[in-house]
Amino acid sequence: MTVFEKIFVHKNAVDSKVALRLKELNLNFEVVSEEPLQDKKGELSASEFDKSKKQLYVKKFEGQFFKRCPGAKPGLTCCNYFVLNLGQQCDMNCSYCYLQSFINSPLLTIYSNVDDSIAELEKMKQSMANDKFRIGTGEVIDSLSLDDLTLYSHDLIEFFKTVPNWQLEFKTKSDKVDHFLHLGPAKNVIVSWSLNPEFIVSSEEHGTASLANRLIAAKKCIDAGFKIAFHIDPVIWHENWKENYLGLVDQITKQFKPSDMPYISLGALRFQPEQRHIMKQRFGMKSLVNTAELFSSADGKLRYDQKLRQHMFDTIISAFKERDSKWNIFLCMEQPETWLAANKSLPKQTDGLESLFDHNLIRKHKKFSEIQS
Ligand code: SF4
Repeated sequence: MTVFEKIFVHKNAVDSKVALRLKELNLNFEVVSEEPLQDKKGELSASEFDKSKKQLYVKKFEGQFFKRCPGAKPGLTCCNYFVLNLGQQCDMNCSYCYLQSFINSPLLTIYSNVDDSIAELEKMKQSMANDKFRIGTGEVIDSLSLDDLTLYSHDLIEFFKTVPNWQLEFKTKSDKVDHFLHLGPAKNVIVSWSLNPEFIVSSEEHGTASLANRLIAAKKCIDAGFKIAFHIDPVIWHENWKENYLGLVDQITKQFKPSDMPYISLGALRFQPEQRHIMKQRFGMKSLVNTAELFSSADGKLRYDQKLRQHMFDTIISAFKERDSKWNIFLCMEQPETWLAANKSLPKQTDGLESLFDHNLIRKHKKFSEIQS
């Protein structure tokens, strides 16, 4: 379990399930009546950002939990995804992490009122239970790395079992699954892993589970009756990239079959230009992301040249398809021209992926939100 230097619990969360869990685990915390360390709020220095991963703050969240995925922006091919945010910041430490572009709090925050998030979903369920929502909890916090502490997966899995048309995705780089396996089977719960060759895991994804342990955890989830998915993301160019990514395809295809997962997504390294300086301060020029040659793209993020992205995607997709044509692969947060080059068609026209890109649902949810507000 992650060890924190300091744990704060707001008085409005002191009776919450997560605070009781802290007590059960004998973890000492300080009860506060105001958000601690407010003087440190704002743009964080490299060392303050590092420290923010070690100071846990549990509080009630007053806003809306359920939102559209931030990838839904002009210039990108949106894959119809919604997010449920149950906290912010991450206890792991990837060099390319996009949290470095916007976290301005010196604390890793967990929202105590998971019940309110489920009440929001309950409301939606009344009129939209038959729609095909895809909802993830791993946007601004890893879905599972702290779940052995919060046990939020238990509440969420139990709720999603009551809405079989909706799909819940836990997205993680940890291997923490043992504590919820007994709740399977739940075919509409996908546990997904961001994967990279072990070379990248050990050089760029600090504090995460090894590739081998992520794959073992994935196997356990299949055996318990959950669905799984893999995101090979971010693909990072390095001298031996071809050999290492082909090795990764080998490891996946030897241990899993296409029917084990609905899809594999691919994405290449990308990040906001404003996070470059903090990445350099935190990880130095030994990090592959800091020495990468990147260019500004339509959505403002820095990316590899489009031809290089295409070449890396083509190499990985071909390797999967050579082993079995049934592997379903899509590109995440990519521009339409890369889709066309890699797949020869846009996602809406690609077999098996049409429903992921049906934007009627987004319109319907927008209408629902307008009526609620
Ligand atoms: S696991 Fe995800 S959220 Fe956590 S540091 Fe890595 S990229 Fe960021």
